[in-house]
Amino acid sequence: MEMTRDALLNQKGGVAKTTTTLHLGGTLAAAGRRTLLVDLDGQGNLTTALKVDRLHPQGEMTLARAMLEGCTREQARSMVRQHSENLFVIPSALDLFTLPRNLYSARSSEHRLTWVLELLEEEFDHCLVDCRPALEVDTDNALTWATAVLIPVDVDEFSIEALELLIGQVQTLATEARIDPPRYRGLVINRIDRPFSGFHQKVYDALHQLPLPVVGEIPLRTAVAEAKNKGKTIAQYEPRSDVARMYRDLAVKAGYLPETTAS
Ligand code: ADP
Ligand code: MG
Repeated sequence: MEMTRDALLNQKGGVAKTTTTLHLGGTLAAAGRRTLLVDLDGQGNLTTALKVDRLHPQGEMTLARAMLEGCTREQARSMVRQHSENLFVIPSALDLFTLPRNLYSARSSEHRLTWVLELLEEEFDHCLVDCRPALEVDTDNALTWATAVLIPVDVDEFSIEALELLIGQVQTLATEARIDPPRYRGLVINRIDRPFSGFHQKVYDALHQLPLPVVGEIPLRTAVAEAKNKGKTIAQYEPRSDVARMYRDLAVKAGYLPETTAS
């Protein structure tokens, strides 16, 4: 099986990109898939959630350094940390903050992440890249590398506006970087809090009427945040909870896992 290459992207903040990367990744790992998560956000929320150390630009290879200077396969491997069985991460580092500025004038600036992550293709079944809430050159790199995009959203009117912008950006980038545009796996609606107000019902219905399929619906649950505070994925923390099942449903509906492993 070829490694799946997914960017989890939405320039809107707080829509659960990092949470989806963590718990979807954990779900795939629990299903026996070797899964690599990549923290492409200098904030390092995914790195913190997994309770692994940031990479240190002085003395260690980092993703930003690898993208700017190039790296060998061994150097690429040296960035990978193991969290638990089948679950791996390339942690964040502070130099990700200056990456967009430093990358801006580089040649083939959108292809740098592809050069790095292709060195690790053989070793994983799935790779999920947790993007920063921005549509800049680092995000362009994720989109250039990715063959699929999964879009976390929340039930908020700005989610719909953000999506139009996002889809436009993907098209522009594909033309400019001369790449095949990644396909959309679809939307994951997060932090669903029922019963809905009339307003939220309207937004929820509108999300279902977009041309992208809804592949996941994740309710607001304290266990989701608790698992993260304990450095665990929901598959490890509360494998029998309804929300763990919903992440498994997402993994099936979005096409990562076959139907038969669904609960
Ligand atoms: P993003 O990466 O898009 O900025 P996060 O994944 O950091 O968003 O999520 C924003 C906040 O919402 C975090 O504090 C996270 O713990 C919380 N959160 C996300 N999904 C859920 C959920 N299903 N239930 C409860 N809290 C959630
Ligand atoms: Mg995040």
